Amino acid sequence: MTSSVRLGVFGNPVAHSLSPTIHSLFAELRDERILYERMLATPANFPKAVAQFFRDGGTGANVTLPFKEQAAQLANTLTERARVAGAVNTLMKVSSGFVVGDNTDGEGFVKDLSRKGFHVSGCSLVLLGSGGSARGVLSALLSLNPAKVYLVNRTLEKAQALKQLLVDLSVPGAENIQVVSNADSINEKVDAVVNATSSSLHNIDIPLPQNFADDAWGYDLMYSDNATHFLKQLERAGIKSRADGLGMLIEQAASSYQLWMGGERPDTTFVMSKIRV
Ligand code: NDP
Repeated sequence: MTSSVRLGVFGNPVAHSLSPTIHSLFAELRDERILYERMLATPANFPKAVAQFFRDGGTGANVTLPFKEQAAQLANTLTERARVAGAVNTLMKVSSGFVVGDNTDGEGFVKDLSRKGFHVSGCSLVLLGSGGSARGVLSALLSLNPAKVYLVNRTLEKAQALKQLLVDLSVPGAENIQVVSNADSINEKVDAVVNATSSSLHNIDIPLPQNFADDAWGYDLMYSDNATHFLKQLERAGIKSRADGLGMLIEQAASSYQLWMGGERPDTTFVMSKIRV
């Protein structure tokens, strides 16, 4: 019998993480044997914990809050998309013994948009927030050729710095990003709004654009068993097509699983049906 492939997720807190369930379902689907653990770390012991995990035969690990930026510092090498994001959610040991840092959040996000039929190409789009997750999804959004992107952050300098970073990295479309500090100053009719702030975590309303297209869609990166605070806010604003970030979580996990295990991308529909019943 073949031994299990050792995988896991580093985070703090990590007890709530759905990743072990998601990856175990992928393994079940593909008839593979994995051992996927939750690994609680602190900022001080995270580098040692990662080194120990790979020394002990670990193949790959996910990284969640608050370690994504720290993981980008300690990986021996970064993929292009991890470099752009400045954050790593997937670590993988390669044959040379090097630990590669990747970021599958952006890919997971756009795969979920496509699954839901949420169009980006040619759209006027608003991205709320300029923290770690906004950094991860912005270049993925730009790759889908939106007509216009407004990047909104209450701390304007952070949004300006994020735009400049993508311009410096020559990410196509970055020069045309419009940076604003308050979404309700946007008068143009917008087709889509993506919430990458932690407003739902704090259960607070955040300013929205004034005008939405009739078929506009909205997406909250946060997910929960019930509608998130932001999704309720969108409902009140009359936006009919709405989704939370559970699909993104499952899609980014599928990308990580494929990187570690090879072969076909796991079927996310099955996993979604098992997790959101
Ligand atoms: P960060 O802490 O890096 O960034 C938080 C952002 O929210 C900043 O732009 C901050 O603005 C803004 N913000 C916080 N409070 C307010 C407020 N009261 N009003 C307006 N803006 C506010 O967090 P992350 O980017 O890592 O995470 C953001 C959300 O995305 C979380 O809810 C997280 O759960 C979710 N997420 C989901 C993932 C998935 O797979 N579905 C993956 C990653 C994240 P400022 O700069 O001014 O402080």
